[in-house]
Amino acid sequence: MKPLLEVDQLRVSFRTYGGEVQAVRGVSFSVKEGETLAIVGESGCGKSVTSRALMGMIPPRSGQVKGGSIRFRGRELTGLTKMEWQQVRGSQIGMIFQDPMTSLNPTMKIGQQIAEGLIKHRKQTKTEAKEETRKLLERVGIPEAARRFEQYPHELSGGMRQRVGIAMALACQPQLVIADEPTTALDVTIQAQILRLMKELQKQLNTSIILITHDLGVVAEVADHVAVMYAGVVVESGPVGEIFDNPRHPYTQGLLQSVPRLDAGKKERLIPIEGTPPDLFRPPAGCPFAARCRFAMEICMEHMPQSNSFFNQHEASCWLNDPRAQRTEACMVAGRETHG
Ligand code: SF4
Repeated sequence: MKPLLEVDQLRVSFRTYGGEVQAVRGVSFSVKEGETLAIVGESGCGKSVTSRALMGMIPPRSGQVKGGSIRFRGRELTGLTKMEWQQVRGSQIGMIFQDPMTSLNPTMKIGQQIAEGLIKHRKQTKTEAKEETRKLLERVGIPEAARRFEQYPHELSGGMRQRVGIAMALACQPQLVIADEPTTALDVTIQAQILRLMKELQKQLNTSIILITHDLGVVAEVADHVAVMYAGVVVESGPVGEIFDNPRHPYTQGLLQSVPRLDAGKKERLIPIEGTPPDLFRPPAGCPFAARCRFAMEICMEHMPQSNSFFNQHEASCWLNDPRAQRTEACMVAGRETHG
C-alpha cells in the first residue's frame, strides 16, 4: 500500500539579518493511513518548521522551501498557490496547535469558528453546520454543546479549548492531522485525557497523525513510528518499539537516558546531553551531533554519515553503524552498554 504522505529530502531556510538559517536540511519520512508518526527532538531541531511546511505555512517573506518533495495522496504539494493550499488545509490536512488560545479567534464564538470550516470546505448551510458542530463538540467530550457553541475561547478552560482545537482540526474529516505539541500547555491529568481522545478519534475515523513533540512519554503512549530529528535532519527513525528498545544513534540513546523511567528504581541517575546544537547559519560538514558525541571519530567531523538500515524499517545515520568506519565494534558495544 502506498503511504498517504511521502516527504523526500525536504529543505527549508529562513532569511534573517544574520544570514540564512538552514532550519530543515533534507528531511525524509512517510506516513501510512491510520498510522501515528511522532517527530521528536529538542527545541530548534526543525520539527515544527517541518510541520509548518507540510501545511504550506512557511511565511513567504522570511522563509522558503528550498527543495525536496511533499507528496500527499500522490499529489505534489510544494509549489501550490496560496488558494490551492487553502483548499488542502482543513479539508485534507488538519492541524492541532500547542496553544489553542493562539489558534482560536478570541473575538468569535467557538461554535462559529468550527462551523466556518464546514461551510467553506463542505459547502454546508448555516443550519447544517451548526448541527454538525454541536455533534462534533459532543464527540470531543464537551458537555452542553448547545451552550458551549455560544461561548468565546476565554470562557473555556485550557483542556476544553484544546478539545475545541481538536474538533476544528477534525471538522472536515481530513485524512491527516498534524498535532504540534498538543499537550505541552496542559497539566498532566488533562494531557492524558487529550491523548486518549486523540487515539479514540483516530481509531474511529482512521485518520493518520503526525505528532510533533519533545516528550518521549507521549511518544511511547501514542506513536507507531518515530523520527528523531537533530539540527534539521532525521538522525534515526523506525517503529516505536525498536527506537525505545534498540536505539542505534547516540543522540537517541542520550534522549532516552535523560528521561525518568518508572521501572528504573530509586537509584536511577538521569544523564543530560551536554553541549548545544550546532549553529544552523553555518551547519557542520560532518555529523551535526559530533561536537556533543562521546563516540565521535575523525570521519564524523568531516563527512555526514549516510543512513543505515536495520531490522523492520529501522534506520539511523551514524558512522558507528557503518562498516567502513574505524573503531565501529568498540563504539557500538560502548553505546549499548551506556543505554542498557
Ligand atoms: Fe557520534 Fe559520529 Fe555517530 Fe555522529 S556519526 S553520532 S559523531 S559516532
